[in-house]
Amino acid sequence: MDPISPLEQALHAARALVLADLAAGEVAAADVVSMVEDSVVQRRWWVEQWPEGVAFVAGLVAQDVQDAILERSGRWPLCPVCGTGQPHALEVEPELGPDPHWVCHEAGVKVAAVGALGSATGGTPPS
Ligand SMILES: [Zn+2]
Repeated sequence: MDPISPLEQALHAARALVLADLAAGEVAAADVVSMVEDSVVQRRWWVEQWPEGVAFVAGLVAQDVQDAILERSGRWPLCPVCGTGQPHALEVEPELGPDPHWVCHEAGVKVAAVGALGSATGGTPPS
C-alpha cells in the first residue's frame, strides 16, 4: 500500500474539521457537504502548485465554504459569543496561515479553533 501523502492527510483533516463545524451549526446538509468537496478539489490543485501552503488548507477550506454558504443561504457560522446586537458571522484568522481559528471581530475574541466550533456553541463562551 502507498502511504498517504501529507497533502492528502491535510486535505482529509481540513474536510473533517469543516464538516465538524458545519455539523455543530446543524447545516451539514447534502448540498453543503458538496460545497466542502468542491473546495477540497480546488485546494488540492492549489497546494499542488504551492506545496508550502499545505498547512493552510483547513483555514482556506473553511473560508471557501463560508463564502459558498453566504452566496446561497446566508451567514455562517453565526457568532455564539455576542448575545446582543445584529447577528454576525465569525471569521477565520489567519486568512492564510496554520492553526486557523474562528474569530468574532465585534467582541475581538477567538471563539474556537476551526473544527472545534461545537464546543464553543454548546458550552459557555471562553472568557
Ligand atoms: Zn460576535
